[in-house]
Amino acid sequence: MGKRKIKAKVTPERQGKGLAIYHDMAVYENFERAAGRIFESVKHAQAIRPGAPRYVYIDIQGHKNENGAFDHDAFELISDFALGFLSNYVSEIHTPLADIKFGKQDDNIPDILRIQYPEDGSDYGYDTAKLPLKPREAQPDQRKTRPPIQAIVDYLGMDEPACLVCWRKPVERAHVVPTSLGGSMDVRNFALLCKSHHAESPDVADAESFWAWVDYAELRDSPDKWLGAPEEHKRWLTEHGIKIGVGNREPTSFFSAVKRELKSIYSWADSDFKVADWQALMDEFHKVMDAATGKHFSIEKKISTHAWAYNVARGRIQGPEERIIPISRLTNDN
Ligand SMILES: [Zn+2]
Repeated sequence: MGKRKIKAKVTPERQGKGLAIYHDMAVYENFERAAGRIFESVKHAQAIRPGAPRYVYIDIQGHKNENGAFDHDAFELISDFALGFLSNYVSEIHTPLADIKFGKQDDNIPDILRIQYPEDGSDYGYDTAKLPLKPREAQPDQRKTRPPIQAIVDYLGMDEPACLVCWRKPVERAHVVPTSLGGSMDVRNFALLCKSHHAESPDVADAESFWAWVDYAELRDSPDKWLGAPEEHKRWLTEHGIKIGVGNREPTSFFSAVKRELKSIYSWADSDFKVADWQALMDEFHKVMDAATGKHFSIEKKISTHAWAYNVARGRIQGPEERIIPISRLTNDN
């Protein structure tokens, strides 16, 4: 797989004590979301304490390849993003692979992080034209039965089994890509979810979209954990669209719930819902549903599965080169 390129635009700014920035790359974060969040934290540190030394600590949850080493996204996050790009703007970086102290840091932190993908057809994103099976694990182990819960806990580096979204117990072993679509029994093809989050998670051929949904649901459903945070953190979280405290979840229609996921996970804008040829979209939607989604718990319609299929259908209409790299952030409007 080729490497992403990171470019950025600059505007200036400027001192005090050092600030530590921690980021634990969750199993459900991909390179894009983890890099974007660390970058925002570094920018925030410069905004609240201009010129203060910044110390970045990165840890990794899951994200292993078949040799037990870090997978492509985690390795690229450490080597190219943190020790490469980010090293200009911080004083120290601590990662599982290396700890580095730099002589100086540049406080002219770019406004925008831009991630560019290699043009050689490298294997980024879900191929909407082919509707392939796209697991995270390139070479799954050949086990025939589901791994024990403890094996998944160990892989994820958790202390004990808990739902990845809401941290409740008991947990179920949720396939990332369902076996009916060719998903493996490899430990990397499993998440731990409570019964209700398992029943909501998508049954689709694209592992990264499953993880993006977990990431989205975690943002959506666990805002209570921020209630005790310092005021300045709360302000920052609010500015970044993160809710503090679980409010009332208003009942919405099935399609408005699908719409919210299309906006939050697949970055649809309002204008994207004004589809010129609705019938063509629906035809593709049904093709995608038949070829690349599954059913679970005999739930006929899952919001998350439908949102994914609409997004892939739109990609098919837009062109053969369309690939999907889900972002998952919370939007306030439904
Ligand atoms: Zn849960």
